[in-house]
Amino acid sequence: MHYSDEEICTQLGESFSEHHGAVSPPVYQTSLFAFDSFEAFTEAQKRERENYVYTRGLNPTTEILEQKLALLERGGKCKCFSSGMGAISSIFLSLLQSGDHVLFVNNIYGPTIQLLDHLKRFYIDHSSVGNSLEEIEKAIKPTTKLIYVESPGTMLMKVVDLQQVAHIAQKHEIITAIDNTWSTPIFQKPLLHGFDLSVHSLTKYIGGHSDVVGGAVIGSEELIDTISKYGFQLNGAVLSPHDASLIIRGLRTLPIRLRQHQQHCLKVIDYLKGKEEITSIHHPSLHSGEEDVINKQMKGFSGLLSFELKDAGFEQVARFINHLSVFKIGVSWGGFESLVNAPVKKGNEKELNKQGLSPGLVRLSIGLEGADLLIQDLEQAFQALSREVEIQ
Ligand SMILES: *Cc1c(COP(=O)(O)O)cnc(C)c1O
Repeated sequence: MHYSDEEICTQLGESFSEHHGAVSPPVYQTSLFAFDSFEAFTEAQKRERENYVYTRGLNPTTEILEQKLALLERGGKCKCFSSGMGAISSIFLSLLQSGDHVLFVNNIYGPTIQLLDHLKRFYIDHSSVGNSLEEIEKAIKPTTKLIYVESPGTMLMKVVDLQQVAHIAQKHEIITAIDNTWSTPIFQKPLLHGFDLSVHSLTKYIGGHSDVVGGAVIGSEELIDTISKYGFQLNGAVLSPHDASLIIRGLRTLPIRLRQHQQHCLKVIDYLKGKEEITSIHHPSLHSGEEDVINKQMKGFSGLLSFELKDAGFEQVARFINHLSVFKIGVSWGGFESLVNAPVKKGNEKELNKQGLSPGLVRLSIGLEGADLLIQDLEQAFQALSREVEIQ
């Protein structure tokens, strides 16, 4: 059962004959499915997650997307959600109970930590460590139920040795989950390295067109069934069939889009390397000492990077960002459009330092406009910034 990613993204998981040969599957924009007899209805209801009964359960359009994502990640099953956070929260709400501890590894997406801060009121505890295997093993408690990783992270793009973390977790009978949004399954398949669950914000590269919000969790049939029952059906963060069809469309071009994001991101990085206004650039392609881990688990690099403006705080970062025009100012990333963002806000510099982030940190999502145009945009912003310094 070895399908290429390209085949999965374009054809697999779709039953053309059931849809009159339609090459693009129809959108089953329906909340419920009606039955010929009461017997058939009650029979179907017994296993609502496997039969079309209600869209807060199973929907044929969403099911196509779920089959494709499960195949791409080499997982037994996938469940889609109405947002990445819907998917992430479903993991915690389905698999944890009071008294359990969650270990976060590497820089974790802010709202994920905030959710666990909130779950403290239900006596679910958490702590965080960096990417060192020694630290990870030391931080495990008798109550640790879940190790939750981001690799690469999405601020400093640091990587974690997935195989080793999975190995440590298996020794202690702990479930492992990874937020795989940065790489997508095209560039990284964590389940092949022993992880139990891979979670995505489909809003980023997989959707790719900045017109839909969605999420997914992939893992063994058993784990996904548990998550579907509690985190999906009862929590109710259901992906709409129309949004599922938009994400299926995004998937068609995911491999070729990622190739372009990678190629053009590496060109932008080459340009940034020559700028003396910058102290460091963060992207896994540049991480010396991590090559072995990267070669083992990653097939490529996507287009999210960050760099540090020298001696900068809120004012300088704001001036630099305001001079950009092709890069749009906004949250999110992974779409066709290039974006710029920075974690600094007025007065949070100390807080950032505590998190190990420089106040001069600027994050770029390299879109599909072409590297030359993006480099031009960055160059004129650097020039405007240095003219301002001269005038002062
Ligand atoms: C955006 C993002 C999420 C959350 O996804 P939503 O679709 O916005 O809910 C989770 N993890 C990472 C790394 C993200 O960038």
